[in-house]
Amino acid sequence: MPNINEFINKKNAEVLHSSELERVDGIKPCSKCENNAEYALWDPRDMILSWKCSEGHDNQFKVN
Ligand SMILES: [Zn+2]
Repeated sequence: MPNINEFINKKNAEVLHSSELERVDGIKPCSKCENNAEYALWDPRDMILSWKCSEGHDNQFKVN
């Protein structure tokens, strides 16, 4: 039987990780279709800006 405390700690770590992403408002064009995303997510740790259009296509832009 898995340790319940370990499970909860893991859950918290995941939430913490996703909260590192910063929401950046602004229209972002999709590279695969004509739809736009209304905001992007900025990952300051990996320096990646990512957004998903209304069709669900993932777009990423890595900043060097
Ligand atoms: Zn798209």
